[in-house]
Amino acid sequence: MTDEALARQLQTTSAIHDAIFGKPADTSATADTTDWERCPTCKSGQIEGGNIQIDGREAWQPVSCLNCGSTWTEVYVANLRTNIERETT
Ligand SMILES: [Zn+2]
Repeated sequence: MTDEALARQLQTTSAIHDAIFGKPADTSATADTTDWERCPTCKSGQIEGGNIQIDGREAWQPVSCLNCGSTWTEVYVANLRTNIERETT
């Protein structure tokens, strides 16, 4: 792993940690206190998500607001496995 890749991974890990375990109230919002369809800063619905990355049970996505330019990271945690099919031999 290159130093650049490692730095990126550490940055991402830090962002996940902050999102899950909390940051100052003005830089994070929990599932219960945010409108997932709107920008947390200006409440515009014009938001755009980037590439989703998945690691184990967690996934995260960079999102930006096309109206005010705010950026943030949305963190997802898997809670269901469905349509499991078993090979019969
Ligand atoms: Zn906005």
